[in-house]
Amino acid sequence: MKLQYFGTAAAEGFPAAFCNCEYCRRARGGLAKELRTRSQAMIDDDLLIDFPPETYLHAMRYGADLSAVTALLVTHSHTDHFYAQELVNRGYKFAHGMRAPSLAIYGNAEVESVLEEGLRREVRPSVREGLHFHRIAPFADFFAGEYHVLSLPAHHGNKEEALLYCVSKGGKTVLWLNDSGPLEESIFPFLEEKGIRADLVSFDCTFADEEHPSGERHMNIFQNMEAREKMAKYRLLKPSAKYYVTHFSHNSAPFRDRMDALAEKYGFIAAHDGSVAEI
Ligand SMILES: [Zn+2]
Ligand SMILES: [Zn+2]
Ligand SMILES: [Zn+2]
Repeated sequence: MKLQYFGTAAAEGFPAAFCNCEYCRRARGGLAKELRTRSQAMIDDDLLIDFPPETYLHAMRYGADLSAVTALLVTHSHTDHFYAQELVNRGYKFAHGMRAPSLAIYGNAEVESVLEEGLRREVRPSVREGLHFHRIAPFADFFAGEYHVLSLPAHHGNKEEALLYCVSKGGKTVLWLNDSGPLEESIFPFLEEKGIRADLVSFDCTFADEEHPSGERHMNIFQNMEAREKMAKYRLLKPSAKYYVTHFSHNSAPFRDRMDALAEKYGFIAAHDGSVAEI
């Protein structure tokens, strides 16, 4: 299984669109290296996790054929994770010879309402027909084509039931854990009961090494370590498992060299835009 990180920033991007702080000014001076777009990952060229405003840019930048994507797992409705308007271009005169005529979209009720709102003004009937929404709750267990998917509850505010995902195919498993604060306790026995042994865990590391995170809706690297220890106790990890950190806030100075050194110090790999993990 191949997972490619398309975007690795928190909501505002890095540098942030409207920010003139020292970090963002420095990052603008070395964009080719430091640019971080909003969160998205592609698995095996046909499953996407999240759909930020940069999805179009990501497809151009990494040579992805979005017409081949059959499943889209949406974590939650925040703008940096779900830009539904782009989907109006998926068909009609805008897209010919699509490899997958139908796209299955999985998400919570709020994601469904953002999808409807995003499509409302412009969508052509033939485009609408190709989009199939599946509303899911935490602890769902379903198949998206060849992928076995488990949804997990995120700790990400109380306005919607944000989701995390466990995605398996061909004996390989990815745990996708952003956006979320410290993980719900119920996740660990659930995954144990399902017999999960992860090959790759991708943690929400929005706050990097900030000792006192400014919120409970995301994690720092120390909370990532606690989560990893709990996973080990529940035997949820393969010995060869890889641990990535991603979704960095511009306030945490997510310069590439700094994040590489920080992640390595604690046994993680820092994800960058374009990073590829083969498991
Ligand atoms: Zn986010
Ligand atoms: Zn800034
Ligand atoms: Zn969010």
